[in-house]
This record gives sequence, C-alpha cells and structure tokens, in this order.
Amino acid sequence: MPCREIETDEKLREKKEKLYEFFKTTGFFSERVLKAFMAVPRELFVPEHLKQYSYVDEPLPITNDSTISAISMSLLLCEYAGLKKGMKVFEVGMGSGYQAALIAEIVCEKDQEGYILEEQEAKVFTIEIDNEVYEFGIKNLSKTCYKNCIKAILGDGTLGWPDQKIKFDVIIVTAAGDKIPPPLIKQLKIGGVLIMPMGSGWIQSLIRAYKIREDNIKIEYLEDVRFVPLKGKYGVNS
Ligand code: SAH
Repeated sequence: MPCREIETDEKLREKKEKLYEFFKTTGFFSERVLKAFMAVPRELFVPEHLKQYSYVDEPLPITNDSTISAISMSLLLCEYAGLKKGMKVFEVGMGSGYQAALIAEIVCEKDQEGYILEEQEAKVFTIEIDNEVYEFGIKNLSKTCYKNCIKAILGDGTLGWPDQKIKFDVIIVTAAGDKIPPPLIKQLKIGGVLIMPMGSGWIQSLIRAYKIREDNIKIEYLEDVRFVPLKGKYGVNS
C-alpha cells in the first residue's frame, strides 16, 4: 500500500495501471514485487521535465553518470534478490532513490492497514558517490514515507557501509564493476546474496553471488544488462 499522503496525477495513474497489467502478463514478477511497483510513486524520483515518462519502461537520465534504471530492471533486481519483509539490505548506487524505495516497500515494517510505519529502525542502507546525485536522491526520498526506514549517505559504496558491524541479508549494486568489492563480501551475512552487474564493456552480466561460508562464494549468471560504471576504490579499472 502506498504512503498515506501522496496524491497521484490521473494520467500517470492510468499509465501505471496499464504497465502493471502488462508486467502481470510477462510472468516475470511475483505478487510481492508487483505490489511494490504499484505502491511506490516513481514520478517522485524522476527529474521534473521527465515526469510524463515516469511510467515508460525505459532508463531515464539524472546526470551524465547516473540514470534511473528501467522499471522492469528495478523490479527484476528486487526479484533476483529474493527480498522479504524484515531483511537488511545494502544498495550501492542510490541514484534517484527509486530502487531504495521499492526495496523499502518490501522489507520495512507496516501498520495493520498495510501502510509503512513512520517510526522504525532503518532496514535499507543506501550510498551514493556523486554529490549532486546524492542531493537529488535524498530530496526525492524525503517526500515519501520511506525516509525513516532508509538510511542514505554520501560515499564510496565499494568500501562497504561505514558501520562494519552491520551485516546484510542482501546487497544490490546498481553500477557495473569488473570484480566484487571485497568489503561487500565481508558485510554479507552467511546465506546472504549479492546482486551486481559485472563487466566493463557496453553490456555486462548480471550476477548473483551466494555467501555459503566466510570463505566460500558461489556465483551464478542471471542475464545481460547495461548499467553505468561503478566508481570508487574497488570500481572499474581500479
Ligand atoms: N539505483 C538507482 C540507479 C542508479 S545509477 C536508481 O534507482 O535510481 C548508479 C549510481 O551509482 C549512480 O548514481 C552513480 O553515481 C552511483 N555509483 C557509482 N559508483 C558508486 C560507488 N562506488 N559508490 C556509491 N555509488 C556509486
């Protein structure tokens, strides 16, 4: 269920419902992820001049190095991660904040009517390396009911979350690297999964890594994707 106070433009609502009906026919998405799609107002995460395209299933630009992924890609990342209520999730590459909001809609605490609780401990931790994009992302998130359940900071996500004591059930990297940053493997719980686009070319491979034991990672190829490059200490060509 969406945040209580957010109103949606009639035309956008219609487009969203059409896309929802289409997504259902593809069979790619679970009920839980489709519900999150309906609950999160993507128009709040899209630059003002592109609002009319909020429910076109295409990536939209934020800056030169940053895009809001296509809707189906944002939903697939949630799907591949196997998100469930109560999980602790780390996202590297906050961008617009849309992916973080989708994750929050799935993992955060809700009241009896199904609305996100205003007061709760953070479950979603997201980090953005670019200052301008970071400002854009937190401004967007501040308009939603997810602000308390999402902790967002400016920094290099390849170094992990600064509080190293926190371990995550899921880590989702939304920029493409040529190796899994070692600090991320360290901050993943045993049994946790990491989803990341892997490669430095135009097209990359989306991979899922399972942490089986402290020193044992199993990697699985999911599909070909296209993301912006991962920067930072363990980013591309570092
Ligand atoms: N998840 C975003 C999509 C972001 S695009 C959304 O839903 O809108 C990828 C983002 O990763 C860009 O904003 C880029 O600046 C950021 N990024 C790249 N390398 C990073 C790093 N090392 N740490 C944190 N963010 C990074």
